[in-house]
Amino acid sequence: MTVTSAPAAYELRSYDKLFIGGKWVEPSSDEVIEVVSPIDGAVVATVPEARQADVDKAVAAAREAFDHGPWPRMSPAERAKYLARIGEEVVKRIPEMAAAFTREIGAPAAVSQAFHDNARKMWGDSSTLHERFVFEEDRTWEGGEGRLVREPVGVAAIIIPWNGPVATASLKLGPALAAGCTVVFKPAPEGPVSVMMLAEAIEAAGLPEGVVSVLPAGREVGQYLVEHRDVDKVSFTGSTAAGRKIMAAVADRIGRVSLELGGKSAAIITDDVPLENVLPTLVFAGVANSGQVCAALTRILVPRSRQDEVTEALAEAYRGLVVGDPREEGTTIGPLAAKRQQERVLEYIRIGKEEGARLVIGGGVPEGLEDGCYVEPTIFADVTPDMRIAQEEIFGPVVVVMPYDDIEEAIEIANSTEYGLSGAVYAADNQTAEQIARRIRTGQIGVNTWDMCVTQPFGGYKQSGLGREGNVEGLGAFLETKLIMR
Ligand code: NAD
Repeated sequence: MTVTSAPAAYELRSYDKLFIGGKWVEPSSDEVIEVVSPIDGAVVATVPEARQADVDKAVAAAREAFDHGPWPRMSPAERAKYLARIGEEVVKRIPEMAAAFTREIGAPAAVSQAFHDNARKMWGDSSTLHERFVFEEDRTWEGGEGRLVREPVGVAAIIIPWNGPVATASLKLGPALAAGCTVVFKPAPEGPVSVMMLAEAIEAAGLPEGVVSVLPAGREVGQYLVEHRDVDKVSFTGSTAAGRKIMAAVADRIGRVSLELGGKSAAIITDDVPLENVLPTLVFAGVANSGQVCAALTRILVPRSRQDEVTEALAEAYRGLVVGDPREEGTTIGPLAAKRQQERVLEYIRIGKEEGARLVIGGGVPEGLEDGCYVEPTIFADVTPDMRIAQEEIFGPVVVVMPYDDIEEAIEIANSTEYGLSGAVYAADNQTAEQIARRIRTGQIGVNTWDMCVTQPFGGYKQSGLGREGNVEGLGAFLETKLIMR
């Protein structure tokens, strides 16, 4: 399915009910989230803001459905039919979800296309997991035999950020449901509308009562949800800072937790690779979705002798990017998702200049776009590992070029941050590139390419997260293992 630019006249739908236990119900309060479009600062929709009472209701419904309902007791193949149905309902809604995503978060058509295509793939992946995964098997050991049974972990709380809500939600909801968990899902307040459409897709698939709730809310309500004693598992995507708090919040009850957190991924360019092999993936990997992608390649490691060549070629490619209203045909870079994100990115640009990095291109708010949350695609060169812009996740269209003297130093620099989510190595031959890739401490890495592959294990080393999502590894995160001895 091809996603085109959203028509400028497209109006976001508002919602006045919450999706609790599979039904649209009155919220417990009159509080609403005003969705502010980063394109022009206009309030474009409202959705109810879930409060603690709504969390209590949703968790109680999920608990009841898990403890007494049919969902965890169905066979994986039976559940898979519902997941395939959700996938079909999602695909029907992709054009509208994509238009909503553009209006509420500012993503241009190509980004929306990639993210929603990922959502489609993930439901496809989740609905076929039972064909690839052994839920039960006989085991024998010295002196005994028995049956190994993998069971759903229980009530799962799923919390996601705003940078690709339907895709991120699908990556968690699909495996959680395939495992037999019941789910309370809290999207971020910045991008709730496309996710409410996902709730409608789930409703249309006719899951049993209590299995899924969707509660848009801020971090306090998120914290209340993760602390809830009836929640068995928390699956979170977002900042490393929030991930740390969530891990601490579940610690006293030894709660199960999966975390998909920040990144500062490195692209290593060797001395022998032609730049035409590098640029096509490097540009999109760095600044697509205005750099608001956890796996973005934001550190470009180059041989010192090639720094000017690479920097100039990258700058030339950036000059060809079209920054502007993401609803317009041909726009490649839209705004950041919110004012606070724009301010945060501009602050990092200020820090980079203060630290002595060389600003090659960008660095400001594009002319004529002052009403929205735009930042020019920005390149810093002569960046050293001790600089904050080399270490911290900026989450904006800002990449840093870091010169190195030999490949050992490049590997050391690549491994020198607290993160380890993605990466890429570009070399004249794939074998050399792969040898280098094996030495980078990161969850996914491209060899003369880059992708964020979510239908295979995706997740981070070090402070980029805990556990893996996608495919059978992602399913495993929602299962407990029981040995029945005979
Ligand atoms: P955040 O991590 O604070 O919020 C993400 C989600 O978690 C939201 O739904 C939020 O309501 C919820 N949340 C936050 N604190 C929580 C808590 N203590 N308990 C339960 N839920 C909680 O991210 P943000 O404030 O939107 O963005 C800040 C920075 O985080 C960004 O600039 C970026 O660096 C990073 N970020 C990373 C990713 C990623 O995919 N790795 C995504 C979004 C943001």
